[in-house]
Amino acid sequence: MTAYWCELAWLGGERAEPGVLVDVDGGRISAVTSGIPAPLSGARRLEGLTLPGLANAHSHAFQRALRGRTQHGSGSFWTWREQMYRVAGVLDPDSYLALARATYAEMALAGVTAVGEFHYLHHGPGGARYEDANEMGRALVAAAADAGVRITLLDCCYLHGGIGEPPGESQRRFSDGSAEAWAERVGMLGNGESVRIGAAVHSVRAVDPESAATVAAWALERGRPLHAHVSEQPAENGACLEAYGRTPTALLAEGGALSANFTAVHATHLDDRDVSLLGEAAACCCVCPTTERDLADGIGRMRPLVDVGASLSLGSDSHAVIDLFEEARAVELDERLASGERGHHGASPLLRAASESGHACLGWPDAGRIESGARADLVTVSLDGVRLAGTEPENALDATVFAASASDVRHVLVDGREIVVEGRHASIDVPRELDEAVRAVMA
Ligand SMILES: [Zn+2]
Repeated sequence: MTAYWCELAWLGGERAEPGVLVDVDGGRISAVTSGIPAPLSGARRLEGLTLPGLANAHSHAFQRALRGRTQHGSGSFWTWREQMYRVAGVLDPDSYLALARATYAEMALAGVTAVGEFHYLHHGPGGARYEDANEMGRALVAAAADAGVRITLLDCCYLHGGIGEPPGESQRRFSDGSAEAWAERVGMLGNGESVRIGAAVHSVRAVDPESAATVAAWALERGRPLHAHVSEQPAENGACLEAYGRTPTALLAEGGALSANFTAVHATHLDDRDVSLLGEAAACCCVCPTTERDLADGIGRMRPLVDVGASLSLGSDSHAVIDLFEEARAVELDERLASGERGHHGASPLLRAASESGHACLGWPDAGRIESGARADLVTVSLDGVRLAGTEPENALDATVFAASASDVRHVLVDGREIVVEGRHASIDVPRELDEAVRAVMA
């Protein structure tokens, strides 16, 4: 057993608690004791604010290679997508593993203890099957294990290039040909101690309603997480309304996709009925503000969703940056810009989106809280760096959510294992591996 004494810890309330002792035994938290003013002898001392593990609920690991290369000039989501397809076109299982391993290690440094990888790069160039049809997915699972973080592989069904269209040349790698073939391939993957296999419908553009219903039934029967990109772009809503006379959310609801195990990724351009449907289902909405602003997607309004019973999670999606504090504050700050009012989401609910709700939407209901019995994930944020110096215990949560950066994370424990110590990854030279992995695919 190992004991950690936290100078401050967030136990789920409106304020951080001073002097918290966390006992860890076999990868689980065995006891949490508040009101311990000084470290006990033998306890590891964690100075700063200790949070539960953060969950990055929406990731496309390979898009890390695009960082800084797609920001110049004009264009839209759709022109960015062409650049993204060029990277997707050159990856093989080895380069995918190297890039994902470095990207997940960057996440570990940012306090991420579980990643939801929305995975559609299944097959070889032109759609040729690898000998193991899940070779690319297994590369992602191995990458997460190397980086020391848990992974939910949200294996994505992707069949069409647009509504009623066959996949384009660059999209053939994504397609299994049918939802039945998708299910057969995914059925060959299994959960593990640090791995969950979930399902994803890429979008109503890429999956027809019958196939989406097949994927939804697969997830429902097995109690697996189901994610889908929903209403990221007005053009997606327009095409869906024209083809089916319904919004993407309504179409997915009719196909049986909406439940408490469903996560609508982005949920940027919803109408009132969409909001009600997601709330009634107690679904999760995964917001990815740093990507949504990078791609000029628009600003999702999350407060109405929370008001009707939906939960929120956060994702760094295209990895324009990997910083869940930046994602968290953007949910509130973007909504301020869109509404002209402040105070939609406080620091505590935003941290819950980054931790407990994010883990829950990835199939880890026993993570994301510092409490007895939960997985032993601890993320310690230094309060004495330039951004947070001067922070008092009473405002430590606000200071962290509204001013911290991923660089303030000093210590990360995942399932009782120390993967980041004093701001360094325990086993990976992260900048070097990122440099090599990105250059290898962008050469
Ligand atoms: Zn995405």
